This record gives sequence, C-alpha cells and structure tokens, in this order.
Amino acid sequence: MNGRGNREVQVKPRPLGPDGFPAPSDFDGPPADVAGCIDLHMHSTCSDGAFEPEFLVRWARKLGLKAIALTDHDTMKGVRRAMNEGSRQGVEVIPGCEISVAYSQGTFHLLAYFIEPENRQFTDRLDEIAHNRHARNQKIVAKLGEFGMAVTYDEIRAEAGEAVTGRPHIARVLLKRGYVKSTQEAFDLWLGDDRPCYFEKETFGPREAIEHVRRCGGVPVMAHPYWLNRRDLQDLEQYLSELKDMGLMGVECVYSDHPPEFRRQCTGIAQRLGLVVTGGADFHGGVTKPEVSLGSGPGGGFKVPAELLEGLKSAAARARVQP
Ligand SMILES: [Zn+2]
Ligand SMILES: [Zn+2]
Repeated sequence: MNGRGNREVQVKPRPLGPDGFPAPSDFDGPPADVAGCIDLHMHSTCSDGAFEPEFLVRWARKLGLKAIALTDHDTMKGVRRAMNEGSRQGVEVIPGCEISVAYSQGTFHLLAYFIEPENRQFTDRLDEIAHNRHARNQKIVAKLGEFGMAVTYDEIRAEAGEAVTGRPHIARVLLKRGYVKSTQEAFDLWLGDDRPCYFEKETFGPREAIEHVRRCGGVPVMAHPYWLNRRDLQDLEQYLSELKDMGLMGVECVYSDHPPEFRRQCTGIAQRLGLVVTGGADFHGGVTKPEVSLGSGPGGGFKVPAELLEGLKSAAARARVQP
C-alpha cells in the first residue's frame, strides 16, 4: 500500500489551478478546511516529491496551515530552504527527515524531528549508508553479470520504488527476467547469505536508527505504523513498547492512509505507552500518492489538529536534555 515512486525518475507534478497551487485531483473530495491545522509529513523535490521546498511552504500558508515539517527520505537537503521560506511566510517549519530502516515484514520508516539541517553528525551517517547501500547493490549486479544474468541497477531501483533498494527487489527482477522460478530460488541459488552473489549489507536497523536520532538530539517517531504489518494490535503494542525502550518517542497515529478506526486504536496504544502522537498527510504531489493533498490527505476528510505539535515540542525538550 505504500506509494511507489522512483527517486531517480523525474516526477511530474500535479497540474496547477488558476491560483497557482495544485488543483484538486480526480481523487479529491471537497477541499477540506485545514486552516489552523498542521501537517508534519511531506516530501519535496529533494527526495521523491514533485514540488520545491519553498513551494510547499507557500502552499501551506495559502491553506492556512500553522506549522509543517518537511520530511524527505534520507536527506535534510531541503530543510533549511523550507525554514527560510517559513520565516518569510509566517509558517512554522519544523526540521524533519524520514529514515528508511531495514525491516522484512512491512515498511519501517522512522521520522526524525527537530534536528538542525546542518547537523553533520546526523547527515554524514545518512550519506554514508546511502553510499554503501548503492555500492553493495552495484557489486551484486556485477556479480550476477559474471554468472550470465544481465540485470541493470536501474531496473532494480524501479522495482524498489520508495523502499530501500535491496536483495528482495533484485530477486523480483531475476524472477521477471526468467533467471529463476521464484524469489526464494533467487535467494537459495544466488543472493542468500553465503551464496555466490552475496555481499555484506549496510542499512539502518531499527535500534541504530532510533539511537542515531536520539544521539543527535532529535525526536524519533514511528511513521505510518499501520504499514509495519504487525499481526494484530496487541502485537503492534508489544513491538512499539520494545522500540520505546530503545528510545522511540512518538507514533504517527494520525496518518492520511490509516483507516479512521486504526487512528483511534493507535492513539490509544501511544497513550498507554507514553509516546507522543503526531500526524501528517505524506504529500508527494506527483506519481507517488497522487490522491493525497497537502494537509488534508485523500478525499478531504483528513486533518491534523494543531495540539499535536505541543506534544512533539515537549518531546523535543526532553530529547535535548537527555539525548
Ligand atoms: Zn514513509
Ligand atoms: Zn513519507
């Protein structure tokens, strides 16, 4: 259910209306009134979004959003630009980032809030992991070539979309090309640990990602927990409790793609565990999640109340005192 996009592909933005801002798409319901609300999850051209950071801030102002956070995938490159535009426009811009974490049964994205975009301790590690992951995948592709399997890194990245590119995507491409009969066979013959095309991997694991954010003085928040694909609510609560012990401080319960009932249940879990509740629409503006609007998600029935920012700010104060 996660949006599929390819960071390397030019993203075509949604068409603009007469006012210069994205016109409602066919998917949209009546435009929701989000004046006075917030949106703590969105992407710009610095990752897989279709609009520049400054544009998002200007649109947020037009919609009357009080505060927003720019949370591009694995980069803080657009954050200072958004913050500068925020001071010009009178929109509070919270620095953010959405970190990709290795996790097999679903999608684990960790939101990191309130880290200064110039914090090199934070961004150097993100860059290093991206670099190593890229190098490793290329080594695997070259090795497959030596064994006569012609696949390109570009098609593997296209297969991965928004996810962290890795062996499961390589396996799927091998299957599509007819080199193996199943993805399992791809692992058994070529990609599995100790098989001929295996290379040591480097990606953030859950603990390292959470600890890295805390060490840098930021607030780690579990993005869209629904897509962790836990067995049931009890299992989700147990898992979030383990992550809290590692330093997790919040959960994005109010997420545009979450069924309304799940938002309520998830909020209950967060409250029981003493984790702050955050929310965001996850606007991309192009191929990825075309139905989601800034601040209001799909169908116009979604908004994030401004009170949630207070909880996040109190967590930020705690994080600074006790990184
Ligand atoms: Zn995400
Ligand atoms: Zn996102």
